[in-house]
Amino acid sequence: MTPLKIAIQKSGRLNEKSVALLKNCGLNFENYKSSLISTVSNFPLEILFLRDDDIPEYVQDGIADLGIVGENVINETEVNVQYLQRLGFGKCTLKIAIPNESNLQEIHDLEGKAIATSYPVILKKYLQQNKIDATIRTISGSVEISPGLGLSDAICDIVSTGGTLKSNGLKPFAEVLSSEAILIGKDGVDRDGVVKELMQRIQSVLTAKETKYVVLNVDRSNLDTILQLLPGVKSPTIVPLAEENWVAVHTVIQERDFWEKINRLKAEGAQGIVVMPVEKIIM
Ligand code: ATP
Ligand code: ZN
Repeated sequence: MTPLKIAIQKSGRLNEKSVALLKNCGLNFENYKSSLISTVSNFPLEILFLRDDDIPEYVQDGIADLGIVGENVINETEVNVQYLQRLGFGKCTLKIAIPNESNLQEIHDLEGKAIATSYPVILKKYLQQNKIDATIRTISGSVEISPGLGLSDAICDIVSTGGTLKSNGLKPFAEVLSSEAILIGKDGVDRDGVVKELMQRIQSVLTAKETKYVVLNVDRSNLDTILQLLPGVKSPTIVPLAEENWVAVHTVIQERDFWEKINRLKAEGAQGIVVMPVEKIIM
């Protein structure tokens, strides 16, 4: 069988997590920094290591069947590819920001102003949708210094924590796009067979990441209350302990409920609570 090809970022913000995701899917491959291509030894897949900007086009043109890339890059390159799965990492927001001392109040105040960005395509669409006529100045790097140099009144750039904006005397003004890493496929990619198998594996890794395995001890008299707090994947496992009337409860809970649940479990008499990471959940 000819192996499928998946393109991931060679180095940069998405590289490590893309590699980790594929490895957590049980794929065995060498991750040499120098190589452009790596063969998976236990799955019919080859991994191409590319600059992120090239990934959408490579997938569109079929040089790779699949790719992992930020939504910001996909939208900016305006390619025809299919979104297969949102991957929950590489989260960032494309924002318009203005100098701290700027007196612009709302987005229509951008009318007639100059905005510097390395995302001209996305910005142009955003301005059109909001019926704003502004000048787009395309720059490839260090966009955040352009208002200080008098080159623009605002910028449109990727923001994650806002630290870069702050250190350049800028403040967020409007959100243009919120982005995360996406698994994309060539238009019309066969979603059966290998692609389906890979997507199922990715899904089980992503589900597991949101889940914790919890073991706790409880006196039988408190068991019902505890079980109401703990809906398991199907139902919790209950194991008798050596101490009379005590049982251990094993179950999984959602990471987002975690602190709230743990505090309530303690309040209802749960003891010796152990929380463990889950590697995979096969539904
Ligand atoms: P390449 O050398 O592959 O062209 P790059 O320098 O263009 O890399 P990176 O800075 O590595 O790109 O960012 C890759 C992607 O990570 C971005 O396109 C975006 O989707 C995502 N990302 C997440 N957080 C941030 C952030 N704080 N700044 C920029 N990109 C971020
Ligand atoms: Zn890039």
